[in-house]
Amino acid sequence: MIQVSTPSVTQTFRRTKMICTIGPASENPDCIRGLIREGMNVARINFSHCKYDEALARLKMLREARAELGVPLAIMLDTKGPEVRMFGYSRPVLLAQGDTLYIESTDRQPDQVAELPPEDRRFYTNLPRINKLCRIGSRVLLQDGFIEAEVTQLHEAFPGAVSVRVLNEGRLKDKAHLAVPGADYPIPFMSDKDRADIRFAVENNFEYIALSFVRTARDIGDVRELIKSVDPASGIRLIAKIEDKQALANIYDIIRDSDGIMIARGDLGIEVPIEELPGLQKNIIKRCYLAGKPVIVATQMLESMTDKPYPTRAEVTDIANAVLELTSAVMLSGETANGAHPERVANMMGRIIDRTEAGIDYRTLARITHDYVERDNITNIMAYSSVDTAHDWNAKAIAVVTASGIGARALSKFRPIIPIYAFTHHEQVCHQMALNWGVAPFLIENPDGQRFSDAAKRIMDLLKKKGFMANGDKLVFMASSPFGKGRPTNTMRCEVVGDNAFHDET
Ligand code: PEP
Repeated sequence: MIQVSTPSVTQTFRRTKMICTIGPASENPDCIRGLIREGMNVARINFSHCKYDEALARLKMLREARAELGVPLAIMLDTKGPEVRMFGYSRPVLLAQGDTLYIESTDRQPDQVAELPPEDRRFYTNLPRINKLCRIGSRVLLQDGFIEAEVTQLHEAFPGAVSVRVLNEGRLKDKAHLAVPGADYPIPFMSDKDRADIRFAVENNFEYIALSFVRTARDIGDVRELIKSVDPASGIRLIAKIEDKQALANIYDIIRDSDGIMIARGDLGIEVPIEELPGLQKNIIKRCYLAGKPVIVATQMLESMTDKPYPTRAEVTDIANAVLELTSAVMLSGETANGAHPERVANMMGRIIDRTEAGIDYRTLARITHDYVERDNITNIMAYSSVDTAHDWNAKAIAVVTASGIGARALSKFRPIIPIYAFTHHEQVCHQMALNWGVAPFLIENPDGQRFSDAAKRIMDLLKKKGFMANGDKLVFMASSPFGKGRPTNTMRCEVVGDNAFHDET
């Protein structure tokens, strides 16, 4: 008997996936269930602000909720990454235009630096030799880019320091983020904390790790080595967060070696001129989906709803644009982690996605992607053919049997108008596919050893029983047959749902 966990048939089929960050405002079972009902496909836990006991409690709640509601839900650990901070004060500091600050490099951690009277206007940073990364006139951005300053003096004596003049007033909060836009920060990609957090993710079977500040494909290779040393059989997948110029310079290699990309617009908007963000976003999304990799647009998508009940027009258009650009997923951060009404925000995001998707001509788009079928990859060729056939034949859906998720991702690449029902017997793969555009994952019994027609008939019966298909609907199947032999995709079969489907072979 096939066991299933599946999205509810009463929900509108939503192609673009939704990621919600779980934090103090949403870490309770009711809210998590509410977010799932509103369409959360991936739950993100941000390890910049989370301790292990908190993470374990969230993990337990998320797992219980997805089991109770019978839905696929990927759980993602987002690493802190090599953050550059400014410290040496324990109370917020008000800065006025024209203030001069002295910022000195130190190898001590923020907590090891004794508080200095803020009026000294003397601060520390964990950025080594800051004077070597700046020139007179360089821009330094403080407090997530909200305070701009200009370097007026370089202090060469070890450990190095700079004086900066503040260009606009603002308030420095605890351990404020500091950036020297465009500089290659001489800080290792993985800190001891990041290593420990990655180990934690592997040991606790998260579905994804989002890696902050990936700069090169080598960074991803290093994380894969670490994961292998913890659990050689780990199936955890890696999302590279694109946050600076170095990552942009290496974007092709990073897309190739990662399992997906997050356009982390918060930090990226500090490290590159902010007006470049829309073009970069559009480009990265296109490169990712043509490479068959999921891509996430993140940060400030419904920022104003953190405390307000309604979004700005610009936010609505931002989400709609990401959907029109064919992103795999859109992400909520503080809106659901710390906001006043997480479920209302998720509901709003879902409504915007649904309305926007309803106006997209996916059939025409799929024809354009034909040029991007990799001719030396049979799964890719068959996926395109399955999508093309399903579109031409007016099929209701495509079903794919996929142990690893590869078949489902290949179909997703061609952005079909109809659902991709993906059947796997690996629980982690099932939840991972919740991130993939257009894919509705199902968990089934291991089909190895079953005949293709027997498994396909069961899948068809199951889709009927769940109300996803009815007699007379057309279904395109894709699989590698026989199951469990490790063969690439080799089978496409078209069936009209009904009592006689596969009749000849059963
Ligand atoms: C970002 O910078 O946009 C981002 C998603 O990263 P984080 O929220 O972890 O800083």
